[in-house]
Amino acid sequence: MRSLFGRPSLRPYSSYMQRSVLNPDGLTARFLGTSSLLLSDGDTTLLCDGFVTRPGLLRVVLGRIGPDRALVRDAIGRLEAHSLAAVFCAHTHYDHALDAPVWCLETGADLVGSESTANVGRGVGLPESSLRVVEGGDALTYGRFELTFLDSVHSPGDHYPGTVDQPLVPPAPARAWKTGTAFSVHVSHPRGSVLVHASANHRPGMLAGCQADVVYLGVGLLGKQSPEFVRTYWDEVVGASGARRVVLVHWDDFFTGLDRPLRPMRSFADRFDTAMDQLLPLARRDGAEVVLPIVWQPTDPLAGLT
Ligand SMILES: [Zn+2]
Repeated sequence: MRSLFGRPSLRPYSSYMQRSVLNPDGLTARFLGTSSLLLSDGDTTLLCDGFVTRPGLLRVVLGRIGPDRALVRDAIGRLEAHSLAAVFCAHTHYDHALDAPVWCLETGADLVGSESTANVGRGVGLPESSLRVVEGGDALTYGRFELTFLDSVHSPGDHYPGTVDQPLVPPAPARAWKTGTAFSVHVSHPRGSVLVHASANHRPGMLAGCQADVVYLGVGLLGKQSPEFVRTYWDEVVGASGARRVVLVHWDDFFTGLDRPLRPMRSFADRFDTAMDQLLPLARRDGAEVVLPIVWQPTDPLAGLT
């Protein structure tokens, strides 16, 4: 039996690694681990989460955490993302919202999310004029992108439930970054549509009538759920959206930095291989392509679909 401190290898899934295909007039996506994703059409650039500090496990469990501004600046330089329109947060846990307001301070972007996310922004001194508080059903337009925020549900076993009700000044214990509202974010653009569904759970019927070409599908903790849970999740999110490409996210061990290749979570935390055993037959059944994104690598998320 595999040690709980071991981890599944990515080697059996090498054929699923996303290839870098760039189209001159296409969208460009860059995955940054967890559900962090930079999306650009060349004129307007948006960021989901932007979690790059990735503090180690011991610090998260026993200590206090805060955003590492130098790491955010490094990422901005590496991505040439000096001018962002908006940073939106899937929810307010630290692995989504820790660094988001720092990207906003550095680039002038709006911080978009629940009131809890806004309080994370206030805690690092982001002005009210940069905060956009949204609720389920709200839509915002940035350039040719339209973002629609759909009420969702956090994956089972939420470690830090609740809301952030006051400005959250870092450093603070990880538990201070409480969930707030969990959103699935539909991003539409004349080139195509992308759904960023960060947390592996759903509200029944939440995607009825909501089409997407590509789903960035959160699979965190999916390896611990029942086959029935996985099947329903797939049907309600991928099936309901009609997506033909599924980019798996939130499978990487986010206690290690982004300067190394991503690895799945250790087995005590999740079972990426178990999740894949259940997801791949569903993808085959529905004729959907499953890919694993490569950190930092630019690619057109819609390549070959439109
Ligand atoms: Zn979370």
